[in-house]
Amino acid sequence: MSDPIPESFYSDRSGKPIRKCVMCEKDLIASGEPYAIEKAMKRTAEGDVLTLFEMAICIPCGQKMNQRMSEHSKRVIEEYFESIHLNEKRVGLGQEDWQDKWDKVCVVTGEPLSEVTEFNLIGNFIGDRVIAGIPPVAISGEIMEQLQEKISPETRQEMDDFRDTYLGPDDPQLKALLSETQFVLL
Ligand SMILES: [Zn+2]
Repeated sequence: MSDPIPESFYSDRSGKPIRKCVMCEKDLIASGEPYAIEKAMKRTAEGDVLTLFEMAICIPCGQKMNQRMSEHSKRVIEEYFESIHLNEKRVGLGQEDWQDKWDKVCVVTGEPLSEVTEFNLIGNFIGDRVIAGIPPVAISGEIMEQLQEKISPETRQEMDDFRDTYLGPDDPQLKALLSETQFVLL
């Protein structure tokens, strides 16, 4: 049996795994369908690590989002992930003892996360388990910024709208921080 969902992906609010798809609100653990969880983290000047947003999305909803994106943006995103060897590095991590490693370094740059101010945690799951061969990863904020620079203004707007619709935290300070944050869907 594959590994359970790492606790870093649990909801900060409930202290339990996130069960609801952010878009269709289906119960992800009961559905038995694959889904992704993404959390955006920020290290403050004081050294605390804040969660800027947390969300789970089922694969059908992720695909719907993807279909709305322009062909140009889809291609740009695909080419960018290819150029940084994201998939190869993720698969490579899955062949190692990823359980001790995945949340300590950026999977792309290898930088220790302790030296990175912003990073995203991304995992793909079925039920309460990691999908075998696809380990969870941490990606430094720098990688996401570079991606944002490449996509079209329309796609960026669409991603911002999604963020504002689904990922709004209640705390105004967090909201301000979040407006600077990007997310990726894998
Ligand atoms: Zn959904």
